[in-house]
Amino acid sequence: MDNSIYRFSNPGNEPVKSYAPGAPEKEALKKTLAQLCSEEWDIPLVIGGKEVRTGNTGKVVMPHDHQHVLATYHKAGEKEVQLAIDAAVKAHKGWSELPWVERASVMLRAAELFATKYRYLLNASVMLGQSKNPFQAEIDAPCELIDFLRYSAFYAGQLYADQPYSDKGILNRLEYRALEGFVFSLSPFNFTSIASNLNMGPAMMGNVAVWKPSTTAIYSNYLLMKVFQEAGLPDGVVNFVPGQGSVIGKVVTASPHLAGFHFTGSTATFNTLWRQMADKLELYRSYPKIVGETGGKNFIFVHPSSPVTEVATAIVRGAFEYQGQKCSAASRAYIPKSLWKALREEVGDMLNEVKMGDPRDFTSFVNAVIDEAAFDNIMSYINFAKQAPDAEVVFGGNGDKSTGYFIAPTVILTTNPQLKTMTEEIFGPVITIYLYDDERYEETLALCDRTSPYGLTGSIFARDRYAIQAALDKLRYAAGNFYVNDKPTGAVIAQQPFGGSRASGTNDKAGGPLNLVRWTNPRCIKETFVPPTHFAYPFLAEE
Ligand code: NAD
Repeated sequence: MDNSIYRFSNPGNEPVKSYAPGAPEKEALKKTLAQLCSEEWDIPLVIGGKEVRTGNTGKVVMPHDHQHVLATYHKAGEKEVQLAIDAAVKAHKGWSELPWVERASVMLRAAELFATKYRYLLNASVMLGQSKNPFQAEIDAPCELIDFLRYSAFYAGQLYADQPYSDKGILNRLEYRALEGFVFSLSPFNFTSIASNLNMGPAMMGNVAVWKPSTTAIYSNYLLMKVFQEAGLPDGVVNFVPGQGSVIGKVVTASPHLAGFHFTGSTATFNTLWRQMADKLELYRSYPKIVGETGGKNFIFVHPSSPVTEVATAIVRGAFEYQGQKCSAASRAYIPKSLWKALREEVGDMLNEVKMGDPRDFTSFVNAVIDEAAFDNIMSYINFAKQAPDAEVVFGGNGDKSTGYFIAPTVILTTNPQLKTMTEEIFGPVITIYLYDDERYEETLALCDRTSPYGLTGSIFARDRYAIQAALDKLRYAAGNFYVNDKPTGAVIAQQPFGGSRASGTNDKAGGPLNLVRWTNPRCIKETFVPPTHFAYPFLAEE
């Protein structure tokens, strides 16, 4: 009988490799890229640990070279989704009743496999399938993905140790049960680490999952599923069912066993799924726990006391890294008129140095956007700005989808703070700048706060400490992750717990204890050592 009480020490973040010239990891990654480019994978569903091929297939291509097929994948139909639900429900007892440290061991083994044996394969699969340069792939998967796994084991131990006080004569305990049913995890294309965590966070707390990966991230996501299995995740704990979201969502939300929904993606998809669940409330055995991290319209707000070069760097990195396809990407900026001339020059100089191209060419800072639908949507915003009387495209503005889905980093200048590129999430390499009169700083902070329905990330640049304080005050609810003199992207697990409210989600801070606790269904157990033997209380005796 194992009666140890485990306390994992704080794991620290996985070190990020540089892939600089001469670094050994650069050669290893290039070799792996070449190997993947010479293969074509066949990606099945994985249900109850078994591979399932439906014959209804789709192709996975490189966004930066869309004639290059990386894989063929099989799509789930209604029957397979039901099989995945059945497999998850069947796995529930064994997994949820396993001592938690055994589950933690699976998480830590998976983290170690990703950090060592599969590091370059994972990085290369993200680079090719999702068009990330080596650094952007490195900070997503492996690094953030590994952090998610290690920190979920660490935080789970802390949560389980959090027990109620017991008064004299009684013993109180909290048993952090898993949810009674399965979790539906629905993942986005842009972060492989998030796809992993949407499943493995709940799994750490004893839950089982039905996972629908994003079609445009299936390549790296299938590798995750294989490594989870190699790490010893028992059959049925996570079931991998690619396919059409609406088909899968319909079957999953019609199951009485649906106990949780773990989502990251657009606000519109989250709202659709929440509505579907609300329509079926009477059907469910428990109220499904709903956790969703959704869209953003993230800002950089600049006070006249800011150094221009720091702001220019934050704009170029914050708006254009990973082609602006980070939920946290800067997509609007408020600049004082006094700084604009110098800032325009510096941003222009930096953009002249930015190279766009295939991620296999390590000198490319910007790569392709994810697919044709994204390309067309982003270009429609740029074309709108080109026509708008109150806007001007000052940098970029061009796209070319002949070989890959490439859009030049684009800066729009507007005199209209409500222009649709200032208010709507574009999810591409586009930032809109609004110039304000220097003396209208506080007024413009208020304008920034009410301009978009979102509340994800934002940053303030200022040397003036009172100006920083005013921004923290006026923008209290404008961002769940707020940065001072930094770009609004790049949150690190355990350092900057991530998530926003308003239309940006339920703000449960992915990768931290606030998120993990949502995947528990605590049972309080009170035991009385010497129970009373008569019903009467002292007050009943009047004299
Ligand atoms: P998306 O909403 O298009 O897709 C997310 C997932 O839902 C995919 O697997 C998709 O196939 C599925 N889906 C789409 N419609 C569905 C439906 N009707 N029924 C069931 N499933 C459906 O999002 P995306 O394009 O993959 O990701 C980009 C979005 O994600 C952006 O809005 C971005 O801001 C957001 N995001 C947010 C965070 C965050 O932490 N707040 C992190 C990453 C991405």
